[in-house]
Amino acid sequence: MIPPDASPDGRSAVRAATAAPQARACEGKRPDGRARRLRADGKPSPPPVFIGGEIYRHSSYGTRHPLSIPRVSTAIDLCRAMGWLDGAVYCDGPMASAAELARFHDPAFIDAVWAAEAAQRVDPVTSARFNLGRIDNPIFPEMYRRPATSAGAALLAADRLAEGPGVVYSPASGTHHARRDRASGFCYFNAPVLGILRLLDHGFRRVLYVDIDAHHGDGVEEAFAGDGRVLTISVHEANRWPFTGTVEDRAGGTARNLPVPQGFNDTEMAYVMENAVLPLGRTFAPEVLVIQSGADALAEDPLSRLELSNHALWDAVRGLIPLAPRVLVVGGGGYNPWTVGRCWAGIWAILSGHDPCEAPTPEAEDVLRALTWHRAAGRNPPDHWFTTFADTPRPGPVRDAVRAVVEEVLR
Ligand SMILES: [Zn+2]
Repeated sequence: MIPPDASPDGRSAVRAATAAPQARACEGKRPDGRARRLRADGKPSPPPVFIGGEIYRHSSYGTRHPLSIPRVSTAIDLCRAMGWLDGAVYCDGPMASAAELARFHDPAFIDAVWAAEAAQRVDPVTSARFNLGRIDNPIFPEMYRRPATSAGAALLAADRLAEGPGVVYSPASGTHHARRDRASGFCYFNAPVLGILRLLDHGFRRVLYVDIDAHHGDGVEEAFAGDGRVLTISVHEANRWPFTGTVEDRAGGTARNLPVPQGFNDTEMAYVMENAVLPLGRTFAPEVLVIQSGADALAEDPLSRLELSNHALWDAVRGLIPLAPRVLVVGGGGYNPWTVGRCWAGIWAILSGHDPCEAPTPEAEDVLRALTWHRAAGRNPPDHWFTTFADTPRPGPVRDAVRAVVEEVLR
């Protein structure tokens, strides 16, 4: 078998892709002169960096899979159509090499993913061993290159943050379920874990990971269980796949979990952030903050029963950013093409000093109108999916179940 380093695009291509030119492309200065946030020493932070990639536009997990929809490319297209994303702050993520993936993943697993991509099939033994070729982690044409590129983006982000304070956004790098030796929950390689490991390798000793995806950030929690350098905090729907992340689960002291009930509303999210996540984060005093901003807790997402508007996720990101001088924001879940695209474009607006409540320009509206979705809700989409970024807020009462989780997690 050809080893992964000689695979799809070739090892030299991978090395070239991780080399300086792309890093330089991320370091441009903001041309509009808009005020940047100041660092603790009073110097301006560099402009935030957006790491994307074209592989997400042209790849799909298959027509019936929840990830049949374009997400990262939609966010990029929307940001460009709004004038929020000039070339100076944008770069394509490089593909991680097999050696880089092996910083976390079992080489036999890396090899298996690559071989499955090359052959476009997997034998039953390999399928069972690595959880590949199953309904959630299917065989598809870019099944190695795409997650390896998401991982490469997280590594590039970590390298950028090692150079100095700042903010990096990589919406493709939220693959929080992948394990050392198996795929899980649409995730083949764990980009957040690889990014955090790279941060630790750069010498950082306090990395806070906050996961606001509707699903428990199980792969990241497990990877750093017992490692006092990393605190993982996950807010997710209770009693939903992967059915882990109970409030009692603390991974030996390095995790905090906030499982929240169905119908979770904006007021409850604000309550959880103010009373649990932010105080826990401040106490930890991170050098680097990693936010997993999955968009599947939104009310119009098909894969959860949480009922947030995108204001709740945007406010969470706004509240978290001051916790550390270095911030990496990654994506995650999000399975309604309109809600995930609008939400993730809005996150970039916040990170880059724009207003996510601006109305879409005609060009941005064209991006939204061009999306299609095979689910029933996609046959007759409501107009606000085309004509707004911001949802109508979804406030509500703070229920006893939410208060109880907050009380328990602080105990
Ligand atoms: Zn999710």
